Amino acid sequence: MNKHSMEDLVSLCKRRGFIFQSNEIYGGLQGLYDYGPLGVELKNNLKKAWWKSMIYERDDIEGLDTSILTNPLVLKYSGHEETFSDPLVDCRECNSRWRADHITDNKCPGCGSLDLTEPRPFNLMFKTNVGPVDDGESFAYLRPETAQNIFTNFKNVLDSTPHSLPFGIAQIGKAFRNEITPRNFIFRVREFEQMELEFFVKPGEDDDWHEKWTEIRIKWWEDQGISRENIELYHVPGEELAHYSKATVDIMYKYPHGLEELEGIANRTDFDLGSHTKNQEDLDIKASVKENKRSNAKLAIQDLESKNWVVPYVIEPSAGVDRGVLAILNEAYRVESLEGGKERTVLGLKPHISPIKIAVIPLKRNDENIVAKSIELKSQLQKTIPGRVLLENTGNIGKSYRKHDEVGTPACITVDFQTIDDNTVTVRDRDTMEQKRVNLEEVSTFLTNNYFI
Ligand code: ATP
Repeated sequence: MNKHSMEDLVSLCKRRGFIFQSNEIYGGLQGLYDYGPLGVELKNNLKKAWWKSMIYERDDIEGLDTSILTNPLVLKYSGHEETFSDPLVDCRECNSRWRADHITDNKCPGCGSLDLTEPRPFNLMFKTNVGPVDDGESFAYLRPETAQNIFTNFKNVLDSTPHSLPFGIAQIGKAFRNEITPRNFIFRVREFEQMELEFFVKPGEDDDWHEKWTEIRIKWWEDQGISRENIELYHVPGEELAHYSKATVDIMYKYPHGLEELEGIANRTDFDLGSHTKNQEDLDIKASVKENKRSNAKLAIQDLESKNWVVPYVIEPSAGVDRGVLAILNEAYRVESLEGGKERTVLGLKPHISPIKIAVIPLKRNDENIVAKSIELKSQLQKTIPGRVLLENTGNIGKSYRKHDEVGTPACITVDFQTIDDNTVTVRDRDTMEQKRVNLEEVSTFLTNNYFI
């Protein structure tokens, strides 16, 4: 299927303003990327689609937006201080550092030397100083996952928006990991975004919900334009499970660099709520961290019938926004042969993901009537089209079509001399390249019906 390479995607992203290397004019900073004018639209569209499916289309999930700086105690009791690490090895020959599980045949991937140190744990959390005094005590972590502040807000959410089990809390936001070897463009970076749902269920119903959420999430990725044949499920074996997980299913995607994790769906049991709860003796908690003296919370829910306090189990679908963007770009990218030995590059994005929804193109850039009509049409369409409508006044129709094919704009509208006479415009479809004459009064409905329902 995918005959293009990661380089093709990187090049398109830079050329057309999707993704740039961060801090590039100072030589960059490894593992960081910036989203450009089109990238930010695409990324926002993906996040919007997730939010809509989680919060608006259901009534059992609430949203949150919590702080990035995190009290170290949260990450102590969550187990991250102790266990959130990757095995690190040093190459004694070239002094490079690698993740031990990324090394094959005991060879340094940099210089090929066999002189490597034994693996040792390397904690992936970033620390930063808080307040004016740098005494080594007043520090915070940049959160390594958005999940923890969902758990610490469990009671706040429940007190303010009552729910009974099952129900969920969802959040989209930045997470930070000091990855040993960031690589493969935006696939493995040090600052990224996650879309995380913590779905709280009755203990005993967790396995069923785990299966249900796995299916829901695969279907959702398909709705964003990922083909099922490029997805595989990986049932994470016991020895690879994160410290909080009873079972994890990874949704793996065939990226240009290989089959890798797009989203992880974990059964975190009562580990986190249990760990952050005071007086655990009152509760039937199976969590392995049991001496929490600091939190003053009881992160439990009262069963309406039995009146017993229950610490829910939690199913966590955790998706990477950046890995989602990369998968979607990879799916959408295609090069088509045209007549006369020509080619065109097309991003076949679903319209709700496309960074630019509609481009309005005046046939002649200096013709006052045509340009005025185009400006009027752009602002009129902007009121109804769900996303950015762009006035593309380059005066070169062919070039504009090529550009909008390449950035995935579903349709272009050309305003020409005939428009001034009879109030019709040409609507050109990205995928079929077909052109239709549509009356200006009907163009908004035409676009909505064909692209945005
Ligand atoms: P990996 O094994 O690839 O390092 P992980 O299992 O540590 O990933 P999780 O802790 O399950 O990842 O995080 C949930 C999601 O967050 C992942 O499925 C991925 O989409 C995203 N994610 C995690 N680490 C990164 C990263 N360094 N860069 C970009 N996205 C990431």
